[in-house]
Amino acid sequence: MKKRISILGSTGSIGTQALEVIEKLSDKFEIVGLSAGGNVDLLNEQIVKFKPEYVSVSKNPEKVVGCKKVLFGSEGLEEICSDKSVDIILVAVSGKIGLKPTLTAIKNGINIALANKETLVMAGDIVMDLAKQNGVSIIPVDSEHCAIHQCIKDISQVDRLIITASGGPFLNKTIEDMKSATVEQALAHPRWNMGRKITVDSATLMNKGLEIIEAHHLFNMPYDRIKVVVHPQSIVHSAIEYVDGSVIAQLGLPSMHIPIQYAITYPDRFEGIKSKSFSFSEIARLDFIEPDFKKFPFLNLAYDAGKIGGTATVALNGADEEAVFAFLEGKIKLYDIYDITEKIYSSHSPVLKPTIDEIFEVDKDIREQTKDLIKRSYLCLSI
Ligand code: MG
Repeated sequence: MKKRISILGSTGSIGTQALEVIEKLSDKFEIVGLSAGGNVDLLNEQIVKFKPEYVSVSKNPEKVVGCKKVLFGSEGLEEICSDKSVDIILVAVSGKIGLKPTLTAIKNGINIALANKETLVMAGDIVMDLAKQNGVSIIPVDSEHCAIHQCIKDISQVDRLIITASGGPFLNKTIEDMKSATVEQALAHPRWNMGRKITVDSATLMNKGLEIIEAHHLFNMPYDRIKVVVHPQSIVHSAIEYVDGSVIAQLGLPSMHIPIQYAITYPDRFEGIKSKSFSFSEIARLDFIEPDFKKFPFLNLAYDAGKIGGTATVALNGADEEAVFAFLEGKIKLYDIYDITEKIYSSHSPVLKPTIDEIFEVDKDIREQTKDLIKRSYLCLSI
């Protein structure tokens, strides 16, 4: 029997790589639904190749060809996530639009392969509780969490999670270099090919900060037992230390195909898209360095927000995302992302046990405040 799978965000970086995996494992999977943002041309190509039963788009539904059922907007995502005939949904959209459909899928008892960080950063407590109540598995696609998922046998015996970070393009640069960095330099990630927002977050290590919060929720681990280590080669994708001192790490070549495939085929494993065999001698050396918290202050901010919990992480996430967008538009400098986020974050009074509606309210409010602050500082700069 083929596994029935739907993909939210099929034209993005994770979505397209997931379809490459599925094409290779076409005897194992059947595509039920696909959703895309603006890239309808690519979606149309995917329709020809994978013949989904339905698709959903966030704009230009009239341009979709070759699929009988075309859904639209957030209702479209809700409908995809309400189809109980689906075995697993890969949530690969970027940003907060992933949260509501993920909750709907969980309520409908559909297992989740999760590539959307915001879902856990914004509402980790609610999402994990609901998954538990509904007997739904949430398998992480993020390479670090996927690594930890592969290492853990019994979470009660684990002392620490050790999350690796490549260090991004500014690992060996000074703070001054970072302050004058261009968008192009920030987007030149040495190891991973990803979407623009996450690549900028990887340059400031905010991405690692979000991953600390993600790990806390996925594995129910207190923040003081989650460590970050910089590992420039991106071969060790993360590790866990058991109470007896044994450390188990997951290694592999840096390709997102591996964690995507793991998440959608779990608990099975197949050869799939594996491009070459792993060779220790070819890799030759693995380096590990303590992260520089001064150069990458987002790490401390993320620990701080995570420990407070509630809407503190919503504020951190929303402010950062808006600031990253402004950076990508050339409105602010790379380091301003931190300064702006920190300002907005520290003026927020967190709600500790928020409802989903409160989470979205805070998110909206924080984004407006951030945009406003950016506009004001932008005007100052232009004068
Ligand atoms: Mg990651």
